[in-house]
Amino acid sequence: MTSSVLKLPKARTKNKTIRSGAASGSRPQDIRSPAGQTNFDQLTNEQFNIAAEHMKLEPDIRTLLRTPYRELIVQIPVRMDDGHLELFLGYRVQHNAVRGPYKGGLRFHPEVDLNEVRSLAALMTWKTALIDVPFGGAKGGVTCDPTQMSRNELQSLSRGLTQKIDMALGVYRDIPAPDMNTNAQVMAWIMDEYGKKHGYTPAIVTGKPVNLGGSQGRDQATGRGTMIITREACRAFGMDLKRATVAIQGFGNVGSWTARLLAEQGAKIVAVSDVNGGIFKETGLDIEQVRQHLKQTGSVVEMKGTRPVDNSELITLDVDILIPAALGGAIHKGNAEAVHARLVVEAANSPVTPEADQTLQSRGVIVVPDILVNAGGVTVSYFEWVQNLQQLHWDLAHVNEELEKHMIRAWQQVYASHCRQNLPLRIAAYCVALDKLAEATRQRY
Ligand code: NAD
Repeated sequence: MTSSVLKLPKARTKNKTIRSGAASGSRPQDIRSPAGQTNFDQLTNEQFNIAAEHMKLEPDIRTLLRTPYRELIVQIPVRMDDGHLELFLGYRVQHNAVRGPYKGGLRFHPEVDLNEVRSLAALMTWKTALIDVPFGGAKGGVTCDPTQMSRNELQSLSRGLTQKIDMALGVYRDIPAPDMNTNAQVMAWIMDEYGKKHGYTPAIVTGKPVNLGGSQGRDQATGRGTMIITREACRAFGMDLKRATVAIQGFGNVGSWTARLLAEQGAKIVAVSDVNGGIFKETGLDIEQVRQHLKQTGSVVEMKGTRPVDNSELITLDVDILIPAALGGAIHKGNAEAVHARLVVEAANSPVTPEADQTLQSRGVIVVPDILVNAGGVTVSYFEWVQNLQQLHWDLAHVNEELEKHMIRAWQQVYASHCRQNLPLRIAAYCVALDKLAEATRQRY
């Protein structure tokens, strides 16, 4: 019999107290700072402020660029499979649209909260400007634990979220995409739900299944972009990628594609991990075998011929390149001193806290920033949107060729700014992005 008791979400968040049955799955290994107190919004603002100060940006432009345009918090009641009604909280933050419609992913995770979404939305504004696609920045998500939810429950949640934020969406207004724990299937549900009210509108989301108007190459785009930037950074800083050892934290969409494409470039991937833990093989992992093992068992852990490493050990492995590709805050003041890698490539969003950034910098570790490294995803999302609007299809070779052009151009601008002004790569990247945003803002107001 259906219960009439309304349960509130059980969020494993920093400051939240609301709890739910659906989010009760424990996270075996928390990669965030021990206190779990990373303030992502503050983090993004600090980085913005350093760059704005360096550029001597006018105060009014700073205020306009820092302040989100709109923040939505919505309730999403979902009838769970066992009959009880669960109330989830959903978020959509539209940060800035001075250069084009709001664009950014949707994340399903127990730690999603307004603060994190706000910070990720701002990162999207900097990222779309840096990579030079005509979009602004947004982000959204739902506080939930998708690992504890059935397909039906996830479908109801995705459709419920779409209904609740419908008024803020639009092909020329706000276009969501996948992020952590959301995928092409979730985008298909969103497109379908939106279409019920507005008619067939494939351009309302990107990262859809190819069959429903998704782009070739979108699934691998963030990993491919990460590979391209890693390759270019190695060239610029005199490292031989073919002889480099690599550890990658997170083996989802971004981590697994990055591993595969870097291995194709000749790099030796010695360690990978997921939420359950990691694996290490000194002579290099066979990435196809890891993918098969993940497919069969649901995790990378305990693959034959490898030794276990936990997520905290992975960060400190003696490798040339470390690629955090899971959650934010993975490299923090508690472990930054112990990082051995010469190059840290931020495939995840905000994986290095500002304190850790300082520590790595003072130790001569090169950090390649998230807004550059993982911009491949939004770039191919842009290609997908363009194809939907024009009702045509690009082939994979064309998508990859155009992606390569965007990534290389952004890398060259950031590297030039880094060399010219002796700035850390992150601040150089912010300066390139803020320059375009400030100019567009002045022209509009
Ligand atoms: P995903 O859900 O496909 O994969 C996430 C991976 O991280 C999984 O292997 C998961 O097991 C692991 N993970 C989750 N929690 C963990 C924990 N506490 N400790 C260790 N590992 C953990 O997500 P994704 O799409 O690959 O995204 C990964 C990161 O890249 C996120 O920061 C996301 O914001 C960023 N990003 C993704 C895209 C994209 O196109 N998918 C684009 C830009 C940025």
